[in-house]
Amino acid sequence: MAMNRIQFQPGMSMPEFCRRFGTDAQCAAALEKARWPTGFRCPRCDRAGHCVLPGGSHKLLQCNACRHQTSLIAGSVCHGTKLGLSAWFLAIYLISQAKTGLSALALKRQLGVSYPTAWLIHHKLMQAMAEREDRHVLEGPVQIDDAYLGGERSGGKAGRGSENKVPFVVAVSLTDDGHPSRTKLTLVPGFTLKAIAQWAKDNLAPGSTVFSDGLACFSAVTDAGCAHQPTVVGGRKPKDLPEFQWINTVLGNLKTSLSGSYHAFAFRKYGARYLGAFTYRFNRRFDLSTLPARLLLAAANCAPHPLRSIRSADAHC
Ligand SMILES: [Zn+2]
Repeated sequence: MAMNRIQFQPGMSMPEFCRRFGTDAQCAAALEKARWPTGFRCPRCDRAGHCVLPGGSHKLLQCNACRHQTSLIAGSVCHGTKLGLSAWFLAIYLISQAKTGLSALALKRQLGVSYPTAWLIHHKLMQAMAEREDRHVLEGPVQIDDAYLGGERSGGKAGRGSENKVPFVVAVSLTDDGHPSRTKLTLVPGFTLKAIAQWAKDNLAPGSTVFSDGLACFSAVTDAGCAHQPTVVGGRKPKDLPEFQWINTVLGNLKTSLSGSYHAFAFRKYGARYLGAFTYRFNRRFDLSTLPARLLLAAANCAPHPLRSIRSADAHC
């Protein structure tokens, strides 16, 4: 079965991580390489000539041409941090290697920091993962279905009529031989023609073929230049149909992740970030050993988010 290939891959061992990223100096060198793969460029004038200024808790570079000063962490996800970079790297390692995600509480214990600090690191890294995922659209054959955060079965399907739930679209693109390629989980304001038309424009490549059940709003994917093939299931939900097995696999994994790793959280406020982080991990499931390096790259190039923007509602509804 395909999933075994995922479960038994080696990942990066803790000793290897410590050998490569055990000190702040090693982490600073890795962050510099991730931010400027071909060498430093001044963010203001794009010239390469620079000197390193002495002092400071993080490396400070000054452009020889325009004298602009840039800290190694300025403009990255670690912007303004007082923590050592090795703590950030350990967080990146732990979050990327935890198959079903990691709670802020677990991160607090592992890093030896306060809960508010762990919470903020966790959310900043999840934000970096979610932003990375936003850049991808699905293409080819795509299965979609309606799903809900909250309600009786968090992360699963609470039923279309139940209260206290945050709706999201679950979508899985398939390879030519019918295996899942990528997934996207996206909060939507509701299951209306207008919301699905907008969702399809944002998340599907024109020319994709969308498979769904008979829920009327899904026909709006044609507004985004996609073909629509509904399967009218006559009272049965797609979960009962083999055609939608990958939708069910993704939702099952999500449910395990949310119930096993996280305390209840404000679904409407933070749901997009949790779904983005889950998706990031799922879409890189065949490549566990390179995941810390990839997440570092995402974190190094993620725009900085001050606490107030991390705490503000970023949900679409
Ligand atoms: Zn400059």
